[in-house]
Amino acid sequence: MESDRRRFLAFAGLSPLVLLGAGNALAQSAPCYSPEALTFSQKSRRRSLGFMDVAVDPKRRCGGCNFFTAGEGGCGNCQMLGGAPVTANSSCSSFAPRS
Ligand code: SF4
Repeated sequence: MESDRRRFLAFAGLSPLVLLGAGNALAQSAPCYSPEALTFSQKSRRRSLGFMDVAVDPKRRCGGCNFFTAGEGGCGNCQMLGGAPVTANSSCSSFAPRS
């Protein structure tokens, strides 16, 4: 009985943090551009650079790249992609750490 009470209190205490984390994850995954709106050239350039919508290695995210210009809401633009929109959580093979 006491352990049930402790479990409930632990869950109740953590629930707001869990919900806050889920909200942040959703906000970070909000689209910065519509893939359908990209031109053939933009799509081709992304392919040639091995562009990934979500970086496999968090240390090589667009947000930490020298070619990234930050905008609002985790969005920005990439110089290597001709100024095309990207998200801070994306990545590609041309990643260059910000100095
Ligand atoms: S060069 Fe690659 S990693 Fe750097 S901002 Fe552009 S897409 Fe992101």
